[in-house]
Amino acid sequence: MKTGAQRILEKYGKDKTRLMDILIDVQNEFGFIPREITVQIADELGMSEVDVDQTISFYHFFSQKPTGKYHIYLNNSAVANMMGRNDVAAAFMKELGIKFGEVTPDGLVGLFETACIGMNDQEPAAIINNQIFTRLTPFRAKEIVRDIREGKSVNDMFVQDWGDGENRSDLIKSVVSNNIRKIGPVLERTFTAGQAIDKLIKMTPEQVIEEVKKSNMRGRGGAGFPTGLKWEFGRNAKGEKKYIFCNADEGEPGTFKDRVILTERPRLLFEGMVIAGYAIGATEGILYIRHEYKYLQAHLESILQMARDANYLGKNIQGKKGFNFDIRIQFGAGAYVCGEESALIESAEGKRGEPRDRPPFPVEKGYLDMPTVVNNVETLCAVVKVVLNGGEWYKSLGTTESTGTKLLSISGDCKFPGVYEVVWGFSINDILDMVGAHSEDVQAVQVGGPSGAIIGRNEFNRILGYEDLATGGSLIIISKHRDILNDIVLNFMDFFIDESCGSCSTCRITPTLLRNKLLKILNARGVKQDIEDIVEWGKILKASRCGLGQTAANPILSSLKNFRHLYEEKIQKNKEYDCGFDLSLAVKESCQVTGRVPNI
Ligand code: SF4
Repeated sequence: MKTGAQRILEKYGKDKTRLMDILIDVQNEFGFIPREITVQIADELGMSEVDVDQTISFYHFFSQKPTGKYHIYLNNSAVANMMGRNDVAAAFMKELGIKFGEVTPDGLVGLFETACIGMNDQEPAAIINNQIFTRLTPFRAKEIVRDIREGKSVNDMFVQDWGDGENRSDLIKSVVSNNIRKIGPVLERTFTAGQAIDKLIKMTPEQVIEEVKKSNMRGRGGAGFPTGLKWEFGRNAKGEKKYIFCNADEGEPGTFKDRVILTERPRLLFEGMVIAGYAIGATEGILYIRHEYKYLQAHLESILQMARDANYLGKNIQGKKGFNFDIRIQFGAGAYVCGEESALIESAEGKRGEPRDRPPFPVEKGYLDMPTVVNNVETLCAVVKVVLNGGEWYKSLGTTESTGTKLLSISGDCKFPGVYEVVWGFSINDILDMVGAHSEDVQAVQVGGPSGAIIGRNEFNRILGYEDLATGGSLIIISKHRDILNDIVLNFMDFFIDESCGSCSTCRITPTLLRNKLLKILNARGVKQDIEDIVEWGKILKASRCGLGQTAANPILSSLKNFRHLYEEKIQKNKEYDCGFDLSLAVKESCQVTGRVPNI
């Protein structure tokens, strides 16, 4: 009889580029990745153990130690904290008798922290054995622990309150709600599967690219690169095989719109991938999804199968000779940096998700060194509408620089958190009205997640668009009673420190130094020079290789720019220097640990 590991290795054809899938399956089956299986994997894939270890150690959801029969990953994002996560955390610790990072002595339950899991509209939230639990309370935590001790499966633990829409489908069965609050041309329900492909096959690839260029569409991930131009580069690139990647690794805290599209409009997304494949001449599409959305896997696979059965995927699609395209799903395993396109490609090849040096760009040399176009979920959905309605139609929406619509993930202190599709050009004030937040109660809005900017009331008339406030789509509303430095900035700095891949010394070290400065100021030990140091040291990060490092100082720099008074009121006015280190306290703590008697 084959061992579990042997079966998993064979399922993926012992292909080392599928190492991520192999490790995910091993982790799921054994609850961790045992040493002997690492050795077996290395042996059978013709890799060194070190190479396999390198991949395992990079991702949050892989573990080389047992994580318990039930593993609880409680989200520690800023919004989760705002919504009462600390009380839920305390309840789990009390009920289980363990701290975070530990497993109960009987091996039943492991309790861990994790960064934003894409549920900011329904916090506090946790992942337990790949199922999502939202709107947690201390009471609910107690119930969950009771159910675990009674041996219930995760699917039997929540029965009263299913989520909305497709979340109720038998293939998902989740308590997640999708909270679609405003529907526009991309999210509209009238789309019929296959419609755009039927039209596509009557066009040449060049005509498709021309139409997308005419629309002036820019990539929806935040960087805003023109989509038509990217596709043109992809079409002109030389390679035996070309790939389309859909980046569904939305890890920016505060973002969850991809989750909603993957659940409610997956056929639209897959059709967008087919269009992109046709345009550049790719035969394979890879949908890279963050591990946190593993609960959607069966649903997404079934939609892909439906498309194959109807010949909207596969060979000679809809009778068009030579038009071959199929899609496979690749899950990540928990690493924010994999949202960067070259890191995502590295990860899909089974490696650590470390960003590559560029050039060459993925469009010339991407997945398996072949030309690869990476687009995000929203972009690929929007191109379907461009094919159906034309580039001029799309251009007529929004503003001159920012055409079309934008999906926003809105969370924090508002009545109606959720996903909103708006035309570019909405002001922050418009948005606050829309989501049920009174601007006089709102102190700040975090635009674009931790890598974006925190703005105050004097900027609420600014508009969303590349010409003013560009955003990948996350908006966090922060009311007057929040402590911006403690509740938001400190949390975001911790996030960047945890998520740095460590390749660049700038990104590996500077965020920690900035965080220490922030803590010094919060602990009333800061002086004016500390603020000046923060501004100077923040510039160092611009030399980092990828966007994560380049933006890692943004939480502290943008709050310093727009809320400088919060820093200034905490620093010591009558002191020029404070080392920030309390020697007596440190000696006292050290003596308590070592059992020695202080002699100073
Ligand atoms: S900037 Fe940070 S995350 Fe990006 S490559 Fe450098 S160390 Fe890694």
